[in-house]
Amino acid sequence: MGKVLIIEDEKNLARFVELELKHEGFETAVRFNGRTGLEAALDESEEWDVILLDLMLPELNGIDVCRRVRQVSTVPIIMMTARDSVIDRVSGLDHGADDYIVKPFAIEELLARMRALLRRITIENEESSRKQTTVTFKNLIVEKENRIVRRDETVIELTKREYELLVELMENVNIVLSREVLLNKVWGYETEVETNVVDVYIRYLRNKIDVPGEESYIQTVRGTGYVMRQ
Ligand code: CA
Repeated sequence: MGKVLIIEDEKNLARFVELELKHEGFETAVRFNGRTGLEAALDESEEWDVILLDLMLPELNGIDVCRRVRQVSTVPIIMMTARDSVIDRVSGLDHGADDYIVKPFAIEELLARMRALLRRITIENEESSRKQTTVTFKNLIVEKENRIVRRDETVIELTKREYELLVELMENVNIVLSREVLLNKVWGYETEVETNVVDVYIRYLRNKIDVPGEESYIQTVRGTGYVMRQ
């Protein structure tokens, strides 16, 4: 489920929340003031999935804890505030809290917010890791992780060289790549092949990725090389 750090000086509330979270399958730790809470939050041997942070805390208030955690970490933070004032909410969110909950709250509401937050974080992480491994050009999609090329939903079968040539062009959109550069990148510096092999492979590639009757995705720049322009 995840590991939750509860920073809350009202001991009864802290213990109640801890008990409920444990019951839901979370691992928990509790700190009763801002200073020890911050220490736990920044403890590099711990990996928190969520921090539940009270606003009004002894020694170091919740806003300060939040601000200092945010300088080094993106861990999700839910502020717990006894005062339902707009200023508190805004200032909590301004200092990097992801959400807030107003005391007294029903435990179900806290759980719902935690789940929503964790779900959002998971989706964001998946999206950002997908972005790094996926290259797109118009409706062409290359999934580099599993070397799959699609036009919309249709998978296009490419040879190794065709694939590498396409990725090189797609990763350099709007940059004209000379035959020599493509040769070096795709075939390697030690290659003995003639530069016109690039033209041959561009033709193979066009036959596979282009829509018949429509302008080619790969443009020829006369005397220079090739480019995918967007
Ligand atoms: Ca408090």
